[in-house]
Amino acid sequence: MDAIQTPLVYLKGVGPERARLLKTELNLHTFQDLLHFFPNRYIDRSRFYRINELPQTHTEIQIKGRITTLKLIPQKRGKRLVATFSDGSGQMELIWFRGYQWIRDQLKLNEDYVVFGKINWFKGVASIPHPELELEENFQQQLKISFYPIYPSTEKLLNKGVSQKVIQKMMVELLTTRSGHFSESLPQNLINQYKLISKNEALRQIHFPDHQQSLARAQMRLKFEEFFYLQLQLILKNTQRKQKIKGQLFKKVGPSFNAFFNKYLDFELTNAQKKVIKELRKDMGSGRQMNRLLQGDVGSGKTIVALLIMLIALDNNYQSCLVAPTEILAQQHYQSLAEQLQKMNCKVALLTGSTPKKERKRIDEELKSGELSILVGTHAVLEDQVTFKQLGLAIIDEQHRFGVAQRAKLWQKNEIPPHILVMTATPIPRTLAMSLYGDLDFSVIDELPPGRKKIKTLHRTDANRLKVFAFIKDQIAKGNQVYIVYPLIQESSKLDYKDLMDGFESLSRSFPKPNYQISIVHGQMKSEDKAFEMERFIQGKTQLMVATTVIEVGVNIPNATVMVIESAERFGLSQLHQLRGRVGRGSDQGYCILMTGSKLSQEAQIRMETLTKSNDGFEIAEVDLKLRGPGNLMGTQQSGILQLKIADLIKDQNLLKAARSEALKILKEDTHLQAAAHQCVKRTLYSLQFDSNIWNFIS
Ligand code: ADP
Ligand code: MG
Repeated sequence: MDAIQTPLVYLKGVGPERARLLKTELNLHTFQDLLHFFPNRYIDRSRFYRINELPQTHTEIQIKGRITTLKLIPQKRGKRLVATFSDGSGQMELIWFRGYQWIRDQLKLNEDYVVFGKINWFKGVASIPHPELELEENFQQQLKISFYPIYPSTEKLLNKGVSQKVIQKMMVELLTTRSGHFSESLPQNLINQYKLISKNEALRQIHFPDHQQSLARAQMRLKFEEFFYLQLQLILKNTQRKQKIKGQLFKKVGPSFNAFFNKYLDFELTNAQKKVIKELRKDMGSGRQMNRLLQGDVGSGKTIVALLIMLIALDNNYQSCLVAPTEILAQQHYQSLAEQLQKMNCKVALLTGSTPKKERKRIDEELKSGELSILVGTHAVLEDQVTFKQLGLAIIDEQHRFGVAQRAKLWQKNEIPPHILVMTATPIPRTLAMSLYGDLDFSVIDELPPGRKKIKTLHRTDANRLKVFAFIKDQIAKGNQVYIVYPLIQESSKLDYKDLMDGFESLSRSFPKPNYQISIVHGQMKSEDKAFEMERFIQGKTQLMVATTVIEVGVNIPNATVMVIESAERFGLSQLHQLRGRVGRGSDQGYCILMTGSKLSQEAQIRMETLTKSNDGFEIAEVDLKLRGPGNLMGTQQSGILQLKIADLIKDQNLLKAARSEALKILKEDTHLQAAAHQCVKRTLYSLQFDSNIWNFIS
């Protein structure tokens, strides 16, 4: 075992109790963990302030001076100890609310002290509550540190006496006793090429930087390293998968595909769709497992791609499943597939949580016998009881709503895993995709079917409501349909429900029967009721659909031209873009109206402006990523997939690109890392295996 893997309990100043706390609170187990536990900020203690030039903020400062008077002042409960502190330029107060008896006995009047702490301002007088205090003569003898690191910490650690000072001491101990002995983890040629500082120097400077520039260089070196190893692992995983994981072999494109393509497909595929189908065919004919992410903006026509490749599976005597995140979407997929395939010899079924028992039994049997070729459904498809005769292809629609663990479940259904295609309309910016899905292959439909008009997006407030209603009436008079969407109803949030119901009532008044019919769909309804209402809207029996975000994904109603989003400020950018994609699917101009309050936070303002300006899913995703951070975007925040220690996917994009290309280069030249120069890489990779949780979501 490398000494760097020594458990923290062996570090001077860390007993069993502290070691346990560090483990449970900060997930720090070994010397290596502690070394790579980086400060989130630094306090500049190279500077001494004068009292007459204190900043008017609540920052931490350091002053030299003397205590001139000491007073115990009674207050509501107990007393407080107040010291007047003077440095010749002015005076201020030092205050203690606890332990003041003992402190008063320790303090010496008219001696030189160095004081450190956070300033408070009250009626123009500065004070520091519970300052750090040191006689200047003692201070002079201490190790001089100019920038003090401040580490992420927890309440519990603080309560148990593991203060910043204690953590700093542990770092000093670790760095001084082992100074210069941390083995280099990057090959020398990269260090030279990118002018990086050594690992030893970087670790010292990241914890106790000499100055701003040395900190910057330490950060750069460690960020590069973090990206480099992240990429190496992803690339290795991908190569391994390609070499090792056998896939079902789809040898041919046969009669089902050809018949459908020639007889029943009633439009010309876009070039992007053709290109993607070619990529998928190649994967599925390779004998290795396909694991591919298909991105395409809303309305780009991913469903037909899914249908066509499921027919290829059928041509090779394999079954397929198409999994959707919501029941409504599953239903719609089922209906449209069943309709399109009705003249073909291809049996399709729908399986959701609300499929009746009897029907379910029939489906189970037909799946086992192989009679059923395509199963459409929700999560229910992934349940353990569902057994296929020979599942060859699993397609997952709108995966950003889909749990990582659920995807993995699909793999366990066969000895040889099915090909997997994940489809998403949430465009993933390239930088994020490289880090998060470096192990997947990518396909993109970057073209919309011809004749689509750009959706016009407008931002309006309550003051414009009457005009908005007039516009809606106008559209309905032209035979079009309208969505009005409210924030999601969650079980706990009564407020959302009230908003929706209030909205529904006021709409019913503005759009009275019999001229207008309104459908309503929300998350708290039974699924039969949802389906019934949805069906009325699809058939044009109702002109308005009042709904929560349950309609967000996938649903396709060409006649709907207007999407009104209420309390739009409460939605995320990508979600708004998705919702907007529900309209303008026919030949008529589509409109999206974002209704908000008149006072918006700056961030909400940016979201509204971005949407009114741009129709490009990728551009919107980039802004979203900047506003919300990657975890949110992918819905994987809790899983910790992207918890980078120091690098930042957005700010450090260039470094990421460089690290990725170097990782690719090394593995290309020396796949098994056998060269002497790459031994440090191999060793570091091994040591990373232990604490890496980025792999849980893969196979
Ligand atoms: P999404 O990618 O958002 O899932 P869909 O697959 O639902 O989009 O397709 C949206 C609409 O576009 C559907 O009505 C579909 O029939 C139609 N469509 C798909 N491809 C084409 C094409 N090449 N030409 C014309 N219409 C198309
Ligand atoms: Mg879709």
